[in-house]
Amino acid sequence: MPHSLVLFQENLRLTDNPALNAAIEAGNPIIPLFILDDETPGGWALGGASRWWLHQSLCDLSASFEKMGNRFILRRGRTDTVLADILAGADIGGVYFQRGYAPWSRGLEDAIKRVCDDAGADCKRYGGHLLFEPEAIRTQQGRPYTVFTPFWRACQEYTPPSLPIAAPKKMPAPNGFLDSEDLDDLELLPQGFDWTGGLAETWMPGEKGAAERLDKFLEGGLSDYKQKRDRPGDAHATSMLSPHLRFGEISARSIWWRIKSTIEADPRTAGNGMHYLRELAWREFSYHLLFNTPDLPETPLRKNFEAFPWGDVDVRQRRKWQKGKTGFPIVDAGMRQLWQTGYMHNRVRMIVASFLIKDLLVDWREGEAWFWDTLVDADIANNSASWQWVAGCGADAAPYFRIFNPVLQGEKFDPEGAYVRQYVPEIAKLPDKFIHKPWEAPDAVLTDAGIVLGDTYPMPMVDRKITRQRALDAYATIKQSA
Ligand SMILES: Cc1cc2nc3c(=O)[nH]c(=O)nc-3n(C[C@H](O)[C@H](O)[C@H](O)COP(=O)(O)OP(=O)(O)OC[C@H]3O[C@@H](n4cnc5c(N)ncnc54)[C@H](O)[C@@H]3O)c2cc1C
Repeated sequence: MPHSLVLFQENLRLTDNPALNAAIEAGNPIIPLFILDDETPGGWALGGASRWWLHQSLCDLSASFEKMGNRFILRRGRTDTVLADILAGADIGGVYFQRGYAPWSRGLEDAIKRVCDDAGADCKRYGGHLLFEPEAIRTQQGRPYTVFTPFWRACQEYTPPSLPIAAPKKMPAPNGFLDSEDLDDLELLPQGFDWTGGLAETWMPGEKGAAERLDKFLEGGLSDYKQKRDRPGDAHATSMLSPHLRFGEISARSIWWRIKSTIEADPRTAGNGMHYLRELAWREFSYHLLFNTPDLPETPLRKNFEAFPWGDVDVRQRRKWQKGKTGFPIVDAGMRQLWQTGYMHNRVRMIVASFLIKDLLVDWREGEAWFWDTLVDADIANNSASWQWVAGCGADAAPYFRIFNPVLQGEKFDPEGAYVRQYVPEIAKLPDKFIHKPWEAPDAVLTDAGIVLGDTYPMPMVDRKITRQRALDAYATIKQSA
C-alpha cells in the first residue's frame, strides 16, 4: 500500500492543518517528515533564537505523533535532495505540504514538484499559513495593495476564511518507520554556552502552548486590547502569539474564528476584537508584500533609499544598541527584553528601530539581521516589512522624518516606568519623573537611587538634538529623487 508523505515546514501543528488533513483523508499510512534545510533559504537560514524555538516545537510535535502510534521523521539537508532520496527508497503515493511565501518558496516548490514527478508521486500543495492568499486580495486593477487601510477593507469584503479543521483522531502509521535523525543531532540548541534560560522561562513552544496563550489572552487581554496594546509594561495586554504563528503551531484562521465567536457571544468585545484582527491583518499585509516583492528583505521598496548616506558607526557603538547600553532607558529595556526573552513589545520595536536607523544612522538591514538572529518570532515577512516601515522606505511606511523621541515615547507608553524598571533594574529606584531621562535627575536623586551615571548606567550615547538634525539632513539628500 502506498504511503502519504506529509512535509511539515511552517505548520508544526495537528489542528487546522490542510495538508495533513488531506493526506489523512486519502486513507494511506502517513509519514510525517521534517527537514532542517539551512541551504535553500540562503542568507535567511534560521537565527539562534528561532533554532531554540524550533527544537522545542519539534519535540512537542514528535510527542503528539508518538501518542498516535506514528513517528515524526527528522532529516537534515536540502529539501529536494532529501525528498528525492526518500521517494527513491519508499512507496510514496503523494507528497503533501503547505505552501510558503518566502523569496525561495517558489523555487523550492518547483523543485518538490520535479522530484515528485520523477518518482511518480502526486505533489499536493495547500494553504494554511495565511487568512487570505496573495492572489485573492487585489485592487480593482488586479494589482497588489501597497497601502494597508484599503487592503484591510478588501480582506473584510472578501469571502471569510474557511472554518478551522479539527485535529485528526487517528494517524495511520506505516508498517515500518523510515530512518530518522535524533532531535539533538539536528544541533538546534546552542553548542557551548547556554544562553536560553530566559527563553525557557518565558515560553512554552508547541501547539498546546499556543492554545493556552490564546485562551489566556481571550480571558484577560482582549477586553482592553485597543487601550493597552501600546503599553509594554502591561503584562498580557497583547497575545504574544507571534512565535506560535511564525512556526505555524496555531493557524491564523483558528485565531480569526475564536475572535469572531467571542464577539458573537459578547458583542461588547467587538471593538477590541476587530482591532485585534486588524493587527493580525498586518501580518497578512507583510506576507502579501513579500510574495509580490520577493527582494523585500534586502532591497528598499522606495528605490531612492538605495542612495541613503548611512553613517559610519563603529562596532562598539552598535554593540551598545544590541546589548541595551545606549543610556536611553526605553531603548535599553527593549533590547534587553529581546536578549533575555527572544521577544520585544511592538511599540518598543518601533522605538529601538527608529533609534538605530535615525539616531545612529545605521542601515535598517543591520537591525533586521540582529532581530533575525535574536527574535523567537523572527519572521521573514513581518521582520523585513516592519524594518522598512520604520525606515520610511517600505509600503505605507512611517514618513522618514517621523523620528521617535525615546524620552517622550517612554513617558507616553510606559508612564510609571514599569517596563523600564523590569529590564533596566539598575535605575529602578529613580522616581517616575526621571525614569526615562536619568541624566536630568539632580545629583541627590541619583545618589538616593544608587546611580552613578557613566558608571552604573551609561550616559546617553548620542545628543539627540544633533542626531535628529543629522538624520533629517541625510534624508534631504535623497528626498529630491523620491
Ligand atoms: C522593527 C520591527 C520588527 C518586527 N519583526 C517582527 C518579526 O520578525 N516577526 C513578527 O511576527 N512580528 C514582527 N514585528 C511586528 C510586531 O512587533 C509583532 O508581531 C508583535 O509585537 C507580536 O506580539 P503579539 O503576538 O503579542 O502581538 P499582538 O498585538 O497580540 O498581535 C497579534 C498578531 O498580529 C500580528 N501583528 C501584530 N502587529 C503586527 C505588525 N505591526 N506587523 C505585522 N504583524 C503584526 C502578529 O502575528 C501578532 O502575533 C516587528 C515590528 C517591528 C516594528
